[in-house]
Amino acid sequence: MRTAIATVCLSGTLNEKIEAIAAAQFKGVEIFENDLLSFNGTPAEVRRMIEGLGLETITFQPFRDFEGMPDPQRSKVFARAERKFDVMEELGCDLLMVCSNVSPDSLGGIDRAAADFHELGERAAKRGMRVAFEALSWGRHIHDYRDAWEVVRRANHPAIGLVLDSFHVLARGTDLATISSIPSDRIFLVQMADAPKLNMDYLSWSRHYRCFPGQGDLPIDDFMLALNATGFDGLLSLEIFNDRFRAGSARSVAVDGQRSLIAMLDELRRRTGAASPDFPALPPKAACSGVEFVEFAVDERGAVEFERTLSGLGFQKAGIHRSKAVTRWRQGNINIVVNADKEGFAHSFNITHGTSVCALAMRVGDASGTVDRAVKLLDQPFQQPVGPGEMNIPAVRGLGGSLLYFVDHKTGLDRLWDVDFETTEADDFAGAGLKSVDHVSQSMHYEEMLTWLLFYMSLLDVRKTPIQTVIDPGGVVQSQAIETRDGTLRLILNASQSPRTLSSRFLSDLFGSGVQHVAFTTDDILATVDRLKTGGVDLLPIPENYYDDLEVRTDLSAEDVERLRANNILYDRDDDGEYFQVYTKTMEGGFFFEIVERRRYQGYGAVNAPIRLASQTHLASGGTPSEL
Ligand code: MG
Ligand code: MG
Repeated sequence: MRTAIATVCLSGTLNEKIEAIAAAQFKGVEIFENDLLSFNGTPAEVRRMIEGLGLETITFQPFRDFEGMPDPQRSKVFARAERKFDVMEELGCDLLMVCSNVSPDSLGGIDRAAADFHELGERAAKRGMRVAFEALSWGRHIHDYRDAWEVVRRANHPAIGLVLDSFHVLARGTDLATISSIPSDRIFLVQMADAPKLNMDYLSWSRHYRCFPGQGDLPIDDFMLALNATGFDGLLSLEIFNDRFRAGSARSVAVDGQRSLIAMLDELRRRTGAASPDFPALPPKAACSGVEFVEFAVDERGAVEFERTLSGLGFQKAGIHRSKAVTRWRQGNINIVVNADKEGFAHSFNITHGTSVCALAMRVGDASGTVDRAVKLLDQPFQQPVGPGEMNIPAVRGLGGSLLYFVDHKTGLDRLWDVDFETTEADDFAGAGLKSVDHVSQSMHYEEMLTWLLFYMSLLDVRKTPIQTVIDPGGVVQSQAIETRDGTLRLILNASQSPRTLSSRFLSDLFGSGVQHVAFTTDDILATVDRLKTGGVDLLPIPENYYDDLEVRTDLSAEDVERLRANNILYDRDDDGEYFQVYTKTMEGGFFFEIVERRRYQGYGAVNAPIRLASQTHLASGGTPSEL
C-alpha cells in the first residue's frame, strides 16, 4: 500500500504544505488544483520541489462536472480535460481524479456516463495517463460508490478506474459488501477521511468537518476490512477538509495524518494479519489502570502555599526524594508529586507556566512497550538524567510540552516510591476520605483538540464519549472525555473558540495548554467536605438559585437539598446513578481541584458545568461569594 496526503488537508502555501508533508514522512501527495492555481510558479517548478523532497505526485484533482453532459458542453469538458492532462504532464503526475457531476445540466444514465469515461480513457491512455472516478455523496446522478463502480465497469477501459472515498461511502451509510467484490486493480485510489456524527447536508459536513481516521465517529475499521478483502495494495490517501486543520499548524496536522494512518493500518493488521511493509507492527495499545501520580512544578514560594492546600485536602507528606527537592503527597490511592527542584524539566516548566501540572503518570501493563508504540506513532519520547540508583521512568511529551510517564508492575517501575523516595508517612493518618483520581481535565487550543484526541486514542486502550457543548459565561466550550472501559482512567479535553471563556483564559494565564483541574473520588462527600472545612479549604460557592431549581427538578427531599446547599455540593443523576461534586476555589494560575462521589454514575456532571463556570467567572472578576 502506498500512502499519501492531499494538499487540501493542510494550512499554508503550497511550498509550506509540501514541506510539512515531506517532514511527516509521507511518500505521496495529491495536488489540489486550487493549491496549484494559487502557487506563484509553473507546474514544472512544483514538480521539482516535490521530487526534491523525495515525494511523488500521485493524483491531480478534482476534475468536476464531467460525465453526462449534453452537447455543446460535452465537447467543452473533453477540451478542458486535455488541458488538465497538459498540466499533469508538467507536474509529473499520471492520475486525474474526476468526481461525479453536480451540474443541473448533466444527464443521468449509467451507459451515457460509461461512454464518456470510455472516451476519456482513450484520450488519457494516449498520453500514458489514467483517470479515477469518485462518487460524491451529493453527486447529481451518481452519489453511491456502487453506481460509480458500474460506470467504471461498463466503461471497460484499462485507463479508467474507481476512487473509493471513505467519507462518501460511510456518510451515506452505504452497504460495504459490494466493495469486497470489486477487483482490486480497478480501484485506482482510496481516499480516507473520518468525520464526527452530525446531522447536516453531505456537502457542508464533508467540506468542514472531515477529520483523520480515528478522530471521528465513522466505522473506518469496517471500511478497511471490506477494502482488505479485495486484496487492495494501491494508493491510500488522506483527503480531509477541516476548518480547524486550515487554522492549525501544517507541520503538526501532517504528523497527525501520518499518525492516524499508522494507527489505522496497525488496527487492520491486528484484525486480519494484513501487513504493510512500510508500516511495521506496533506493540498493542496501552492497557491503562489509572493515574499513578500527578506532578506539579512549583518554585520555593509556590511550594509552601501548594503544600498547605494539599494538607487541607487531607494529603500527608509520604516521602522525600533522595536527591531532588521533590516530595510525595499521598492519600488513598492518590499520589501527588511536588517538584521544587532548581534543575531539570519541572524547573523549566515552572519558569514558563508557574505552579502547574508538569507531568502525569499512567499505570499501564507494559511501560516500555507503551513508549515503543508511542515512538512508532511519531510521538516524542522524553528522557532526562536520573541520580545513581534512581528509576528511569519512560515518558513521552504530552499536552503543552508536559510529560506523560508510564509506570508498570511488570518491570518493577511501581517500586519508584521505595527506590527514589525516603518514606515519611505516618501509619495512623486519617486523611479526608479521598480515594483515587477520578478524572484529569485538560484545556487546550481549539485547533489542537483533534491532535490530542488522536494522541491518546492511538496510544492508549481508551474510548471517547460524544462531545459535550458547555456554556461558559464567556462563550461555548467543547468538552470530550476519553476513558478506559472500566473508568479507572478518565481524561477530559476542553477547548473553546471564544477568548473569554475560563478555558481560554486559563490558556493565556498558563501560557499554554495544560491540566486545568484534577478530580478525586470520595465515598462520602459530606464527610469529606466536613474534613476540608476543618482543614481550611475554601470551596467554590454555588448560587442559591441552583438549589431552588434542584428541589423542583429532582425528587430529593428538602433536607437532602439543604445539606447540598450548606456544603456547596452540585448534584446530578443519570439512568444508572447519582453524582456529587464540589470544587476548591481557583488557585493562582487558574488551577483547581474537584472532589466527586460517584454512585454508579458514568458522566461528568455536564449539566452543572455552567453553574460552576459562572461562579468561577464571578470570583475571577473580583466578585464576592455573597453576591452570587
Ligand atoms: Mg474524495
Ligand atoms: Mg470535572
